[in-house]
Amino acid sequence: MAGVDLRREMERLRALPVFADGPLARSAPELKVRRSGTRPNRLGFAIPDEWRLSVTAYPEIRPGDVLETLLHELVHLHVGRLRGRHRWHGPLFKRTLSRAMAEAYGIVDVRPRNTLHGAYAEALEARRLREGEQLELPLATAIAPIGVALS
Ligand SMILES: [Zn+2]
Repeated sequence: MAGVDLRREMERLRALPVFADGPLARSAPELKVRRSGTRPNRLGFAIPDEWRLSVTAYPEIRPGDVLETLLHELVHLHVGRLRGRHRWHGPLFKRTLSRAMAEAYGIVDVRPRNTLHGAYAEALEARRLREGEQLELPLATAIAPIGVALS
C-alpha cells in the first residue's frame, strides 16, 4: 500500500522493544486491507478481542499515512480497551504510541493534540522527503505515484 509492504512492516513492528512484554510479540494479529474510493473517516481500526486490525487504502494515501495507521492500530492491540472515559486514546495509549514511533521510525517530539491521526503521518512524510531513499523504512517504491502500488 503506497509502496509499503504492510505485512512485512507489521512483522518488523511486532518485534519492537515497546511490544516485547505484550501479546504482539507472541502472535501476529490478522491484518486486513480495505479499499475506499475517497479518504475515509476511519483510516483503520483494531479489535483486540478478535486479535485483528484493518487499514484502509484510499487514492491519495501516502507512505506516512500507512505507517501511522498501522502502528496506531498495533498500539491499540497492545494496550487493549481500558475502562472509563479514555477507553481507546487515553494517556497510556498516547505514551505507548509515542514510544513506538520513536523506536520504529525515530520520530520524537510530536505532540498530537485533538486528532490522533495525522500528526505522526506529517512527521513521517517530512522525514521521508528529507531523507529520500536513504531512509531505513520499507519505502523503496514510495516515490511511485501513490495509489499505483497498492498491495
Ligand atoms: Zn485509535
